[in-house]
Amino acid sequence: MTITEAPALAGIDLSVPGPNGRALLASQEANESSARTYPRRLPVAIASASGSYITDVDGRTYIDFLAGAGVLALGHNHPALVAAVQEQITLLTHGLDFPTPVREEFKRRQLGMLPATMRDDMKIHFCGPSGSDAVEAAIKLCKKATGRGGLIAFQGSYHGSTQGAMSLTSENHPKDGLSNLLPGVHFAPYAYCHRCPLELTPDRCGTRCARLLASTLHDTHGGVPKPAAIIMELVQGEGGSIPAPADFVRRVAALARELDIPLIADEVQTGCGRTGTWYAFEQYGIEPDVVIASKGLSGLGLPVSVILYRRRLDRWGPGSHIGTFRGNNLAFASANAYLEVLESENLLQNVRAQGRHLLAGLQDLQRSTRLIGDVRGLGLILGVEMTGLPAVPVTAHEVAVRVQHAALQRGLIVEIGGREDRVVRLLPPLNVTRRTTGEALAIITQAVHAVDAELAGAVRT
Ligand code: PMP
Repeated sequence: MTITEAPALAGIDLSVPGPNGRALLASQEANESSARTYPRRLPVAIASASGSYITDVDGRTYIDFLAGAGVLALGHNHPALVAAVQEQITLLTHGLDFPTPVREEFKRRQLGMLPATMRDDMKIHFCGPSGSDAVEAAIKLCKKATGRGGLIAFQGSYHGSTQGAMSLTSENHPKDGLSNLLPGVHFAPYAYCHRCPLELTPDRCGTRCARLLASTLHDTHGGVPKPAAIIMELVQGEGGSIPAPADFVRRVAALARELDIPLIADEVQTGCGRTGTWYAFEQYGIEPDVVIASKGLSGLGLPVSVILYRRRLDRWGPGSHIGTFRGNNLAFASANAYLEVLESENLLQNVRAQGRHLLAGLQDLQRSTRLIGDVRGLGLILGVEMTGLPAVPVTAHEVAVRVQHAALQRGLIVEIGGREDRVVRLLPPLNVTRRTTGEALAIITQAVHAVDAELAGAVRT
């Protein structure tokens, strides 16, 4: 256990979960939906949290590199954000879409975060509180504006769990048994270079994945009519923390422009500073037509989502996309305070610096083990893709699960995801310190080495 900010552990049961946690988890098992996810593999019942750390109901403290699935930009309970919310809560909480001073400030600041070349041409729409709802809004906006029905998404994508957003999500399993999802969705190959769908290598591929999409859409016999939109993540998040290569993104953006197809950047996970710029698309030299933001917007985990889009696409009439929870004034107040902290603490620079530190540490780790096939990331969205060992035999998925568990026992919470759940994913808060990234690297290194040793039949922990 290397966490320096943890309480004294003497006398505390170190098994995960402890007795109090086991009781709460058993209660979940008894009467919460079978669709619940995170506590199945991360059996932690949370008592409290602060910054990059959470404490469970048995008094154990963990580094939280799940951070509410990337929601907690400033970690848990940042005091400046808590203060802004406390002030706002006595004034107004829920405001539908009535104008209020904090909403006005939120709108001004959010439009102001767009590149100067875009901001005057963009409008903002306040969606229901989740990322999925904003994806739904983007789909409807583009369909209405173009009069077209089809949509292009990418293999490996995740866009949400409502029916439209799920239709754009490539994973097959959650769609099993659900008929009549959105028709007209086509999935194009993404530049997943570690395991290229076209079995090419990046040095000699000429980005043929993007060319395939171009030829499909240009081909009079391509079978895919001109769609209402192309939706893409600049870094596939749930797909396994896969940053798209620049050439891929630029080719897709050029194709969309050439064919007059609105390009939607789903920045639900990559946005709000996570990749080291406010939006990831800024690093690719492209300008999407629709930008979707949610998770990190409020900085504190208060639900809010928006789409920002070109004025020409606004063919909506009153009520075209509504919802009760479009006026979370607490989230607006928190988001405004978050942007102040972002600027005053030079947070984007911290994201880049800590991201480089983690990436370099993980690359060192890769060199010291046979269990890691690829290490990748952009800013603070990182992935460690595990490999299986056929001789044992053990699959990459089993390795990832063992590493996740070994890290948890040592006090680090990380998510796994991607194809076959073989990628250990790191999503630290954006204000994570060098000390905490160092501690997390030490834990994940110990965890991978322990699993490696276990699999060699020589357990050394
Ligand atoms: N888009 C992306 C890229 C996401 O990562 C997510 C959530 N993981 C969503 C959309 C859906 O957001 P929500 O879970 O808030 O509906």
